[in-house]
Amino acid sequence: MTRWSSCALVVLGLAAVSPASLSAQSADAPAAPAAADAGLAALCTRLEQALVAGEPSQILAATPPASTNGDRLSAFAQGQASARAVRAVVRERDRAPIEDAAEGTAYRLLLEVFVEYGGGRASARTWTIDATRADDGTWRLADAESLSSADGLNRLALDPNRQFRVRDLAVRAEDLLLSFASGVAYVATTAEGETGMVVLGDGTMQFTPRPRMEQTQLRIFSGETELRTPIGAVFLRYHPIDRTDRIAGTLTEEPVAASSLRRAQAIFEEEIGKSFGIELADLSRERWSLVPPVSDFLAEIRTKGRFGTLTYVRSGGEPEDISLFQRARKRNIAVYASAHHLQARGSREFSEDDEADYDVSHYSIGATIDPDRQQIEGRTEMRLTVRAPAVSTLTFKLAESLNVYGVVGQGLGRLLALRVRGQNAVLVNLPRTLVRGTTVSLTIAYGGRLAGASPDREAVGVQQDTAIHEELSITAEPRLLYSNRSYWYPQAPVTDYATGVLRLTVPDKRACVASGTPANGNPVRVTSTHGPALRYVFLVNQPARYFSTVISRLDQAGDAEVTAPSPVSVAAQANPRQRGRGRAKVAEAAAILGVYGDVLGEFPYPSLTLALVDDALPGGHSPAYFALVNQPLPATKFTWANDPVAFEGYPQFFLAHEIAHQFWGGAVGWESYHEQWISEGFAQYFALLYAERSLDPARVEDIRRKLRTTATAYADQGPIWLGYRLGHLQDDGRVFRALVYNKSALVLHMLRRWVGDDAFFRGLRALYAQSRYTKIGTRHVQRAFEAESGLDLSRFFEGWIRTSDIPRLRASFEPAGASVTVRLDQIGPVMDVPVTVTVVYASGATDDHLVKLSQGSTFVKLPASGPVRSIELNRDEQALIVVERGSGPRGRAGDAMSSRQAVQQPKPSN
Ligand SMILES: [Zn+2]
Repeated sequence: MTRWSSCALVVLGLAAVSPASLSAQSADAPAAPAAADAGLAALCTRLEQALVAGEPSQILAATPPASTNGDRLSAFAQGQASARAVRAVVRERDRAPIEDAAEGTAYRLLLEVFVEYGGGRASARTWTIDATRADDGTWRLADAESLSSADGLNRLALDPNRQFRVRDLAVRAEDLLLSFASGVAYVATTAEGETGMVVLGDGTMQFTPRPRMEQTQLRIFSGETELRTPIGAVFLRYHPIDRTDRIAGTLTEEPVAASSLRRAQAIFEEEIGKSFGIELADLSRERWSLVPPVSDFLAEIRTKGRFGTLTYVRSGGEPEDISLFQRARKRNIAVYASAHHLQARGSREFSEDDEADYDVSHYSIGATIDPDRQQIEGRTEMRLTVRAPAVSTLTFKLAESLNVYGVVGQGLGRLLALRVRGQNAVLVNLPRTLVRGTTVSLTIAYGGRLAGASPDREAVGVQQDTAIHEELSITAEPRLLYSNRSYWYPQAPVTDYATGVLRLTVPDKRACVASGTPANGNPVRVTSTHGPALRYVFLVNQPARYFSTVISRLDQAGDAEVTAPSPVSVAAQANPRQRGRGRAKVAEAAAILGVYGDVLGEFPYPSLTLALVDDALPGGHSPAYFALVNQPLPATKFTWANDPVAFEGYPQFFLAHEIAHQFWGGAVGWESYHEQWISEGFAQYFALLYAERSLDPARVEDIRRKLRTTATAYADQGPIWLGYRLGHLQDDGRVFRALVYNKSALVLHMLRRWVGDDAFFRGLRALYAQSRYTKIGTRHVQRAFEAESGLDLSRFFEGWIRTSDIPRLRASFEPAGASVTVRLDQIGPVMDVPVTVTVVYASGATDDHLVKLSQGSTFVKLPASGPVRSIELNRDEQALIVVERGSGPRGRAGDAMSSRQAVQQPKPSN
């Protein structure tokens, strides 16, 4: 999810699928005979002429004499014709034969239409038309419909004849104030009014984000929790009716000074194309802009210092509608919901599914993949159910580099499709509106070149650098991975649980591992267009969030069965160099699965294939049904011991983490980027649970210590709830791993101690059972544990997930006969935290006690079986706290306390 430029507006569909690829290869949609091309092109030309003439009758003149759709056509013609038109372009984008008509005599066409009017205005539209061939061989309009339109396109420019002297100018948006004591301004105006302004002068920017976590991000970016910085110019866009609300101050017209006009124009030219624009491709080479929707706002702010240009956007269509970003570095500095959005929604939480038009229940994917050429030819059927009240178009995702050859809807025939330029998206036009609950199947044929993926944030791995990749490319067995961000098959716009069947054909010297249980008899020898090949079938009978495949030289390297709580077959496929490890890895994987199955009472997927592949560093990636496990090459010796996920003495860690993703992140998904801890934190905690069951207690304590020290070292980088944004500003993945992985794991461990083992493990099972094959948020986790424990956990979750606070504790004690009274003070924010308090006797013996803190000061009376020498806090590393040395009422307590203070790790540089 790249969200950094939420303001670039692209009107649906106004970009073309390559016409050559459309007419060429779909088996379901025979190509139109070449004879039709000239006639249909002539029809488009006639439509262009009719639009310029501005006469509905001329559009209708292109209809056959006895059209059965006369009323609809005349309404269409009335709606499309305008007397002000000065230029028109009509382009064919897709074509399908009309059923029941004699071959080559009737087509449905998808057209893109651009009409320019006087005064620098234009509109862009998408039409479907039915064209029929008359007896005289000419093509006529038999039916027509306008699907989408972007009216109100403007060729915007600063008015060169008007210059304003500004005094005490204030530009306001939520949490933003731009002020100029003096300066000059120029405006850009449309027929509706003023929509843009450039101000030059010595000004100040104040950005004061309300949410605390955004203040933290701002501090990482700028050093301060509020941004106050001198600026030299701003470029503003707004809806004309918002003009007076946004901009206050005195503007007095004055004679135009050529030099400052030129400077303002240069800024305008540089900024205007970056937002509220529309990509028209061959319809018009000029730059057209839209007027921002009411309440939306954009400011390109030229700071005088090191920040360069900062972009503030209010974009009402986004769940988090306020953002501040730095385009030059593609960095989100702040992204959050406005007060208005929060009030309307009633919550900070949101699901990416909220706006989904449809839900896919099943995919049938057939593809031939050539890993050497990174080429894929595929055909996918998606069975989907409409979720929106009514839809007349559907958008699916498919990598931009792939051509769509054709789309066929079951019972709907060949459908017209349009690629949304610059996005991995394709828009499909439906011949009729489908209402909520309607189920339909789409079959999409596609193909082209598609580079392999780096699995990105869903992969665990340690910090890598270029040198490693260079060495790797020489020594490692090549592999091609298509995964969640590859868009290698047509799929719903957001990840969506579905079952499926994958039929994948690869060259015969390669093997293929993919989401799904391998079918009996895999692979089958076949002959593809490129020669001998192998066809694999994978069955995804339990829903998966997305499907992945990896193709490489792989050999069978071992298998095993897990029997309880239900059967799972485990197999390993390995690169030649990794074959020897297969048997051991399979045994390890089976042991790990056994523990997880015991904890959760169920397996989400009936098979697991390990793909053991060469890599420079350990790590992996785990889509449903398989795990890619990076096996470090013996020759590579890179130090990564400082990485937050390098656990000395726990070589099974990566495998344990990846396998946990079958349950968390795999079977249980997360509903927005804020909630990725539900995948990574739970996977990390399950790796800790496996360590508890397989390692000696001292090793487990070492692991918890590493979790604590890294989580503490990076704590000030923000709360867990920031998801991918942790480390984003500094481009440092260690921040993400220290907090979303490690801190989350410790938070779950503390939750376990807070509610007790019984309630915790019941809660885990219940959460898993309620949530599998769905996407959830923090509130679902909270509810599950509240239900099992009977406790109100709102403060626990608020503090640990949504703030970056770490409790700082100070302790003192007073022995009194057979007991000792311990005072524990939380210095700073008070949180709910369970801590082990250890009574250390003069004899050297110790007693551990669990104490739950939820107040600023807590007094506990602990039994003492002998003279007490000291008190220690958190010596078992089970709490994420910082122990302050210091004097309590009886100074010696603090001094005697063994220091369990966080060891400061090197901080990422800003
Ligand atoms: Zn992970």
